[in-house]
Amino acid sequence: MKCPVCGEKYNKLDYQMLSRHLAQNCERNDTPHLEFVKYYLPGANWLAADFTNEVKGIFVYDKGHLSDWILSKLIQRFFQDKPHPFIESMQKPKKSIFQGYAIEYSYYLKQRVRSFSFAMAKSDKIDVQKLEAKLVFPELADDSHVQSQMVLLEDMAESVGIPPETLESSMPLPPTLHSVRLWNSIAENDQWLEIMASLNLMDLVYSPMLIKAGAKLPYFSSSVLENEWIPDEVKTFLTHSVEYLAPIAEQALALSTQYAEELGQTEDLQSVFLRSLEAFDRHLLARVTRAKQFESK
Ligand SMILES: [Zn+2]
Repeated sequence: MKCPVCGEKYNKLDYQMLSRHLAQNCERNDTPHLEFVKYYLPGANWLAADFTNEVKGIFVYDKGHLSDWILSKLIQRFFQDKPHPFIESMQKPKKSIFQGYAIEYSYYLKQRVRSFSFAMAKSDKIDVQKLEAKLVFPELADDSHVQSQMVLLEDMAESVGIPPETLESSMPLPPTLHSVRLWNSIAENDQWLEIMASLNLMDLVYSPMLIKAGAKLPYFSSSVLENEWIPDEVKTFLTHSVEYLAPIAEQALALSTQYAEELGQTEDLQSVFLRSLEAFDRHLLARVTRAKQFESK
């Protein structure tokens, strides 16, 4: 297993070493480790001789329900009583949030194609290869019958006033840049199951499954699709997420949890998933920050 903050490796199920590592980093005031402990274990005393049980508690789930654990962590982070600012913005969106979304997401989208290509190449499972192909080929094959998400994104950006050359030449904000570097490093260095945990599972944010599992809000309000001022290109882009990407993400959830259990790698999947959630949170915040920059122009 690995540290869900920095990726340091430990022996399988060695929660004691992991909790010591977290405590040591908290003692030396390392911000990412401190934030992790405060977020997942509010009130835990890392100065206590041993907080192994508390750390183990983060990873524990009812037998056979790893997928429920994943959904609950995702909901807790973005869709509960205090929703993520980006998700909140998408309930009654302004034009600026789509502008921020377009710029920051375009960079993330390029990484997705790379990451999914790595997962496809590294996996020896035909069902995983086929799943990743559904995400890679529309972006790279000119004769794909599924529309490229990048083309949909370019159309969406243009409809809210960002021409393709601006989209192409814009640099992402530092949080997006850091998150994309993490996902790239996982794609290059880690195994396919961890790549799936890092990016395929992030697409679950589009899934209607989340509402059934307790999310208080959807990824975007359905009223957005009826709103007259919102350009059709934006609606098409958002609809694609729900109609095309969400079912693939749900399939990725089923496959990755099944293989993690078969291969005895559930903690590896969980650690990378938690690490990626944090990165995705920062990327979503960057979309909001970018939107505010557009508003103040
Ligand atoms: Zn660490």
